[in-house]
Amino acid sequence: MPSYHRSAKHGPRPLTALVLAALVSGFGLVDGLYADDLTPSSAGKLAASAQTVAQAIDSAWETTDNLVAPLIGPRGRMLYAEAVGELQQALGAPRQSAIAWKRVAAFAERLGDAGAMILALDEATALALVQGDYDAANAHAGLLLDRARATGDVAAQAAAEGYLGVFARRRGQLESARAHQETALSLRRALRDRSGEAQVLMNLGTVHRDLGDYARALELQLDALDLRKTLGGAERLDLSYRNIALLYREIEDTEQAKTNFKAALAASMARHDPQSLAAALGSYASFSNDIGDAESALAMARQALAIDASLGNRPYIGLEQVEIARALIKLGRDSEAIAPLEQALAIGRDLRHREIVGNALLYLGRLALRAGDEKTARERLDEAISVLTEAKLKAPLSEAYGAREEVAQARGELGSALAYAHRRNDLREELLGTRSGRQLAALKSRYERAEADQRIRLLSLDNEVQSLRLREQALLRNIGIGVGLGLAALLVVLFNRYRTSRRLNRELERKNAEISAQESVLQNVNAKLSTQAAELYQAAITDPLTGAYNRGHLMRQLDEQMRHALRDGRDLALLMIDFDHFKRINDEHGHQFGDRVLASGVQIMRQWLEPGDMLGRYGGEEFIAVLPGRDDAQAHAIAERLRDKVEFALTPLTGAPRPLTISIGLASLKRSGETTLEGLLSAADAAVYRAKADGRNRVVPYAA
Ligand code: GH3
Ligand code: MG
Ligand code: MG
Repeated sequence: MPSYHRSAKHGPRPLTALVLAALVSGFGLVDGLYADDLTPSSAGKLAASAQTVAQAIDSAWETTDNLVAPLIGPRGRMLYAEAVGELQQALGAPRQSAIAWKRVAAFAERLGDAGAMILALDEATALALVQGDYDAANAHAGLLLDRARATGDVAAQAAAEGYLGVFARRRGQLESARAHQETALSLRRALRDRSGEAQVLMNLGTVHRDLGDYARALELQLDALDLRKTLGGAERLDLSYRNIALLYREIEDTEQAKTNFKAALAASMARHDPQSLAAALGSYASFSNDIGDAESALAMARQALAIDASLGNRPYIGLEQVEIARALIKLGRDSEAIAPLEQALAIGRDLRHREIVGNALLYLGRLALRAGDEKTARERLDEAISVLTEAKLKAPLSEAYGAREEVAQARGELGSALAYAHRRNDLREELLGTRSGRQLAALKSRYERAEADQRIRLLSLDNEVQSLRLREQALLRNIGIGVGLGLAALLVVLFNRYRTSRRLNRELERKNAEISAQESVLQNVNAKLSTQAAELYQAAITDPLTGAYNRGHLMRQLDEQMRHALRDGRDLALLMIDFDHFKRINDEHGHQFGDRVLASGVQIMRQWLEPGDMLGRYGGEEFIAVLPGRDDAQAHAIAERLRDKVEFALTPLTGAPRPLTISIGLASLKRSGETTLEGLLSAADAAVYRAKADGRNRVVPYAA
């Protein structure tokens, strides 16, 4: 498989774009090459058109380069050559492109431009590889590796290792091929160049196939495919599918092989890449020949050949010719098969491509045998056997032994025929054994892969569970936060309420205190008021000078007591008290002294009255004592006591020899028989009058 590589670090340049634009506007053909409806049948024509365009560019370039050389100098010319090289490559013209890159290399050498040199070598190697010029490709790759190491360009180093691996494999140096590819793999991984990694994985897979490790080969190819699928974009899915298809073909898993060949074909068409399409068609054709579908094998091989011929891809031209011949032989069109086989043989010999040479010789031998040309048949087959043995291509070798056995039989060389039969048998058994082993290995690999997939699915399930768990936790946390926030809000509300209630309570307390203060004030006021009221009342009923009841109150009380007494049948006595010679006292000692005498007299009398008795001022120096429940005799005794105490207490006040005395007239309800206030008062008054008349300082009871 040619490994076509372009270093990832060299992107399209403005100059390329410019030249491309100019040429595209000049040659409408290029546009058609990349049209969406690229089909196998049109691909060949388009590829041929592209070749015409490429040649046109070549001559245009020659002319332009000569014209502008003095103006743009060697660097300008180098950049121009680069642009042309890229353009030719884009057109699928490797021969022309290779010429351009050789020029770039020459300019780079002259200018000492290491970067340009590496680019040119990279491109030259890839192009030599495509054209089947392995010697040139190997030389370029060796130089590329040297320059890459010298400049520390790891990407170029990886590319060079990859190329060298491919050449080593082509030459059958499988261990060396593996070493180069392993180095390339680690470099790509170090560069984190995933696309490059996929390519190396694929090439390494091919090496392992050649080493007979089908399980590992399939694993590497499937890894490469997976990687390319994840990378998407411009990845060479077609190559991966094709390699996987070829592996399945070799272990005779027809279904898997067919599926992958079809996928490779679809991927190639999607790429609009004639070279890729030719490769897909060619390998699918070979497979179709294997499974006996000669018609479609022939059709596909011819389409592939048309494209390869246009592209100048010589190894593929050779391989395609062999497949065309195989199909024709199967279809019984032997005469048509000779020409393609002769062409394939010529190309194979030129390229030293043993697979092409061996197969071409094998089928040419078969054709000669069928035509009865035993001599030619023997020559062809003997050479085929030697080449195929050298190339370790066991399947065609087994077929060659079979054909050689037939030749020997036809010539009557029975011993030789038997020997070939034995060799063929041994090889067949070996192939069958190898095939079973490969099938087992592939099965094992597929099983392991399925298991790995299962593990990955389980892991992803586990991840889902984990993420669900995380989501659950997050939810719970959110709920927790929510609850927490709710609680906090509640707390805030409660706290506010608490604060408000505390504030209100304090307010209330303050108000209460205020109220109780007010209340106590009020109580005081009330107390004062009631005191005042009492005082006022007292004042209202009292005589201010003496403290005895005043006349109004005295009369009301007397009236009430009389009525009670009369109602209850009890007695009541009334004492009419009059100070003796008071006019004279006032005159002799002054009015104020008279006042003091009156107050003192009242004080003494009250002192000696019983509870329930009442003393009031009747007017002037006349007083009345009401003695409820007292009869005449009892009242007399009380009156006498009052008269005596007053005389005794007041007499010393004057300092004069004359005593200070009172006269008392006594009237009781029962004794007087009076039932009215006026009547009783009159009776008492009459009694006082008698006391005055009788000499004063005495008690006189009323006598009717
Ligand atoms: P008798 O012994 O006959 O009662 O002689 P009297 O002077 O007491 O009699 P009279 O009734 O003529 O005079 C009463 C006098 O009492 C006249 C008046 O000036 C005096 N008096 C009346 N009320 C008061 C008073 O409130 N204060 C003083 N200092 N004198 C009074
Ligand atoms: Mg009087
Ligand atoms: Mg008097």
